[in-house]
Amino acid sequence: MSHADEAHHELLTLCSALGALLELHRATGASGLPKATAELARERGWSAEPVVVPTQQREEAAGGRGVQVPAAPLPAAPARAPSSRVLLEPSLPVAVPATLEERWARLKALEAAVADCTRCALSQTRTHTAFSRGDGSSGVCFVGEGPGAEEDRQGVPFVGPAGQLLDKMIVAMGLKPSEVYVCNVVKCRPPDNRKPSPAEISACRGYLEEQLALMQPKVIVVLGATALEGLFGRSESITRARGNWRLYQGIPVMPTFHPAYLLRVPAAKRDAWQDLQAVVQQLGRTLPGRG
Ligand code: SF4
Repeated sequence: MSHADEAHHELLTLCSALGALLELHRATGASGLPKATAELARERGWSAEPVVVPTQQREEAAGGRGVQVPAAPLPAAPARAPSSRVLLEPSLPVAVPATLEERWARLKALEAAVADCTRCALSQTRTHTAFSRGDGSSGVCFVGEGPGAEEDRQGVPFVGPAGQLLDKMIVAMGLKPSEVYVCNVVKCRPPDNRKPSPAEISACRGYLEEQLALMQPKVIVVLGATALEGLFGRSESITRARGNWRLYQGIPVMPTFHPAYLLRVPAAKRDAWQDLQAVVQQLGRTLPGRG
């Protein structure tokens, strides 16, 4: 490809990314316009390439549960074909059945067990447990904090206002909400929508681990600080963590803001959209409207 062709290709790519971002703003009601993708990427040291995790880090991740791999600065790289993506093999903590049917049977059995769970005090105040939604066929799992009032009433995660925003973001990524697996760190609603306690997160963590092990996602998107704490076991600032790839059991994880936060602070959608674009790239997919 000549230099002129490369420049033309880059211009088309930037135009397409901007168009997709404007569509997200239109769909989600954000205010304000972001800087151009390439400018932001240069400022923040992001690469336009999917995350590539060195072999040593993969081995470290495979050696323990929930091992965090420090997010190394992603080197700027020339445009490469999608086939150059590094696909990470999950290293999972539970015995995983070989077939999809068996994995779904296990998930159904787990959902039934969760419905009767009394491991923590949240069981005393819930109406329904909210286990999951979506079939995960896109390879993406979103992990949130816990059910709210509407989720408690319907027994399904992310069906309230935050869930509606999440669906718009999923569509803007070029995915269908039905092909994304969505779950929470805790399956029962904390009263008054308070943050779940460390004890409650710990009591419910085994369910989340098994869900992720059975789903075998290509990418996990962690929504908010509580979900991040639930997955990695320690409190962190989501503002600092977001946008940086890390590993959970060998699976690439992208932390970003919770949709409920985006409803309160629409300006943060710009950063969240950058994170979700990185997820689309990691999947080897293109944004809607991009040739
Ligand atoms: S939050 Fe989790 S551990 Fe607590 S009762 Fe509900 S399902 Fe069980």
